[in-house]
Amino acid sequence: MKNQSQKGRQLVFLNGGIAIAYIIAIQISHAFTTLPGEVASVWFPSAITLPMVYYYGTKVFSGIIIGSIIGLIPALSSLDPPLSLINSLLLNTICIIANCLQPWLARYLLNKFSRHQEIFTHLSSVLVFIVASFFAPLISAMLGVTGLLIVNALTIGEYPLAFITWWLASALAHILFSPPVIIYREKEVLHQKASYGEIIINLSILCVICIIIFQFAYPLEYLLLPILIWGVFRLNRWNSSLLVSFVAFVAITATGKGYGIFVKSSVNESLMLLQSFTAMLSLTTLILSAVLSERQIAQQSLKETLENLEIKVFERTRELTQAQLNLKHANYTLEKMANTDSLTQVANRRYFDRTLEKEWNKAIETQQSLSLLLIDIDCFKQYNDTYGHPQGDECLIQVAQTFKSVIRHDYDCVARYGGEEFAVILPNTNLKEAKVVALKIIEKIRQLEIEHRTSTASNFLTLSIGISVSNPQLHDSLDDFIQKADQALYQAKKQGRDRFVIYYE
Ligand code: GH3
Ligand code: MG
Ligand code: MG
Repeated sequence: MKNQSQKGRQLVFLNGGIAIAYIIAIQISHAFTTLPGEVASVWFPSAITLPMVYYYGTKVFSGIIIGSIIGLIPALSSLDPPLSLINSLLLNTICIIANCLQPWLARYLLNKFSRHQEIFTHLSSVLVFIVASFFAPLISAMLGVTGLLIVNALTIGEYPLAFITWWLASALAHILFSPPVIIYREKEVLHQKASYGEIIINLSILCVICIIIFQFAYPLEYLLLPILIWGVFRLNRWNSSLLVSFVAFVAITATGKGYGIFVKSSVNESLMLLQSFTAMLSLTTLILSAVLSERQIAQQSLKETLENLEIKVFERTRELTQAQLNLKHANYTLEKMANTDSLTQVANRRYFDRTLEKEWNKAIETQQSLSLLLIDIDCFKQYNDTYGHPQGDECLIQVAQTFKSVIRHDYDCVARYGGEEFAVILPNTNLKEAKVVALKIIEKIRQLEIEHRTSTASNFLTLSIGISVSNPQLHDSLDDFIQKADQALYQAKKQGRDRFVIYYE
């Protein structure tokens, strides 16, 4: 509720402001821009209505209507012969329609054909603005001058010149004075590079040239263009468009007051020179500024794209590194699974075969001794029969882990050889050392005191171990080496179990 009344108040202020600005703009047009013969070279109200209707739409029509009615009273009442009440009402109505229709039409064209929210940052939109600036007043000038003809304030012979004057005065107001008002609300893309000192120098040079042109009527008007272009390159868009409007205002008011190079004997010639010169200044700087903005926007977008690309590359690289790590981990797990016995979690037969062959060759190469223990649990069939197969599994796990606790992790290898048989590879280990390991294993298992009441060897679980030790040479056979351990194991069983036997040739 409160918000709505606040909005209503804002709208009243906006329309009031526009009405007052409209009336003042009419006075300025009459006071400063009117050439001898009562011809206004620029119709300032048009410079206000276009940006206002462009931004606020039909909401500001009431301000335009009030400003138009009040502002035109002096002009309409001074007509000779005076208008009748009916004609006065008719002409006022036509003027109101023309004054509202003109900015509405310009807004429609801009909204329809400009592809950008910010008109003056793109060349195509600036071109649409220029076309709309010239096209919209065509209709309003036709309406207004026809109105004057209907109420007999104009003869048919005066029609064409009045029409052209009305039309160009509004079109010129659009392109000279509307851009700063519109740009003021647009997002700035060109950063001001000039310091205050540079701006003052630029402004001073413009003033000096204006004095030379308009005070001394010396034809140096072409010098204005490079100075304004300097402004476009060095100032932001709003400030540089203000400079153009300033120079145009000076040219128009000076000519209106009879000063400077555009004052000619014929009003029409004066008008044509002044309008074409100021239009040229504005169009050149507007187009240049738009091209610069476009370039800046393209550069910015390129920079952002590159930055985004860099971030994407970084992210992808990180993902790839992570994926590689995951893959490595997966491969490692897979390899481990392929080499591990699933029940006891020690190496499997496949890994044992490969490792033994590797260690055998290494022992040949380094001339070191290699020992192999083949371990078989005693009376394990009975164990299963007595305590059940699942308990047998548990027992195998416990025994295998005990072997692991005895060996040197970095060198030796414990593997499940098959069923309830295990093997221990002991590289760089001589007979004496192998015996120590075998004893340690037997002792450790004894210490576990795993009950086995049906064993023929003891009341607890025991092992038999066959040991084979070799300093292998090139012509020696690995199969023989294993065979010897097996034979020693057989001897251990035969001698009553719960012991180790070393193979002797
Ligand atoms: P010995 O003292 O002569 O070695 O007699 P043993 O009973 O230990 O030997 P045998 O070869 O007759 O029997 C081996 C038993 O080991 C038979 C089998 O059921 C058992 N066994 C082999 N693999 C597994 C296993 O993975 N889990 C269980 N619970 N038992 C197994
Ligand atoms: Mg066996
Ligand atoms: Mg056995």
